[in-house]
Amino acid sequence: MALLKNFAEKAENYLAAAHSSPVFPTRDALATLQTLYEPLPDNPTSDEEILDLLSEKGSPGTVKSTGGRYFGFVNGASLPAAMLAKLMATVWDQNAGLYLMSPVAAMLEEISSAWLIDLLGFPKQTAVGFVTGATMANFTALAAARHRLLEKMGWNVEAKGLFQAPEITVICGEEVHVSILKALNLIGFGRERIIRVPVDDQGRIIAGKIPDTDGPTIICLQAGNVNSGAFDPIGEICRHKKDQVWVHVDGAFGLWAGASPRTRDLVQGIELADSWATDAHKWLNVPYDTGLVFVKDAAALFSAVASSAAYLPEMNKRDPFQFVPEMSREARGIPVWAALKSLGRKGLSELIDAGCAHARRFADGLRTAGHQVLNEVVLNQVLVSFGDGATTLEVIRKIQEEGICWCGGTVWQGQTAMRISISSWATTTKDVDLSLASILRAAEQVRTASKNKRP
Ligand SMILES: *Cc1c(COP(=O)(O)O)cnc(C)c1O
Repeated sequence: MALLKNFAEKAENYLAAAHSSPVFPTRDALATLQTLYEPLPDNPTSDEEILDLLSEKGSPGTVKSTGGRYFGFVNGASLPAAMLAKLMATVWDQNAGLYLMSPVAAMLEEISSAWLIDLLGFPKQTAVGFVTGATMANFTALAAARHRLLEKMGWNVEAKGLFQAPEITVICGEEVHVSILKALNLIGFGRERIIRVPVDDQGRIIAGKIPDTDGPTIICLQAGNVNSGAFDPIGEICRHKKDQVWVHVDGAFGLWAGASPRTRDLVQGIELADSWATDAHKWLNVPYDTGLVFVKDAAALFSAVASSAAYLPEMNKRDPFQFVPEMSREARGIPVWAALKSLGRKGLSELIDAGCAHARRFADGLRTAGHQVLNEVVLNQVLVSFGDGATTLEVIRKIQEEGICWCGGTVWQGQTAMRISISSWATTTKDVDLSLASILRAAEQVRTASKNKRP
């Protein structure tokens, strides 16, 4: 089909250029995007023209996070196999809700689930759901926790709701990710009744400061702080937990530390928790959007999210919709399967090791140039300060403007900082060196400019 050949050629050209193009769209590219605004056309547009419009006007307006020099937020790229699998799934246009609507989607989910449980060392009976991202994974796991803890108190929350239900104590660290707060408010726990536990200088929860509770309690822990990459002492906390306590771990990117022997110590004891959330679209380098929720107590997950109706036959097969809040949805297991199959255990551990090595290389280069690295670089995250807040923000602005790489800002324990997050399989040592040079150049320019300003 000429149209698909045309598409393939455009896709190849895009990917070939993505590694060397400005990481963020130029002003011209943004102006071109503006020309797409128009009233809904009365008449049809041809498929060729749609493809041309996307290619000519859309492509320059993308952020080149599929390349190797995007270090903003925690955004993975796409492994070629995962990207192709996703395209194939799109060609197939499968509804992954039910086995009956897509055996291939159901089976590849089932296969990937077993691989992931094995890889991450979780208990065999753990249920795995394929959701849009870690936010939904956190939400789903917490709904399962809510079910089980209240069920133990004789309360069926799915039937009766939360009004008049026994109280559940919710404990999080001061450095909890916002997505956990969102999930907690969506499931009716409210943000203000959460007990916030102090953290140390890396953002790790201080285990000794977790209050001893008697009733049903959820403790939300973190594997990989979004700024510092630090890990809560998950194993230590789980080993002392009581029966009425459910420990949930948000490991949006940090959970993958368990996939490499070099970083596995960071997640030591993590299998003792009750549920875990991670993203496949971050460090596993699966295209958007795919998150994964793992719940040890599979029955609790099903009670929280599963549903039945006369027209939905029970097949004694994996029906993907029973594991997640959605019903109809895309076949997220297909690119996950492809990513794991293409990497293998070895390739994945090398991907994780490379990200960590690149982070250390950034940190060493920054320190050597006299800049202050604010975190212990234990994983793929680096936090750097270039002086006072205004100076650091100005350096970030210059780096983004140059377009060699892209880094964003944050406030880390009261101090303005720049974040560097290495999450792309495509990043090479050369990318790190080019980016480091750009960062140091920006810092030097800002320093010179401020010196010249002084009388
Ligand atoms: C990115 C992130 C999330 C949210 O993940 P989404 O995929 O954006 O929903 C949650 N927790 C942590 C620690 C993260 O880094």
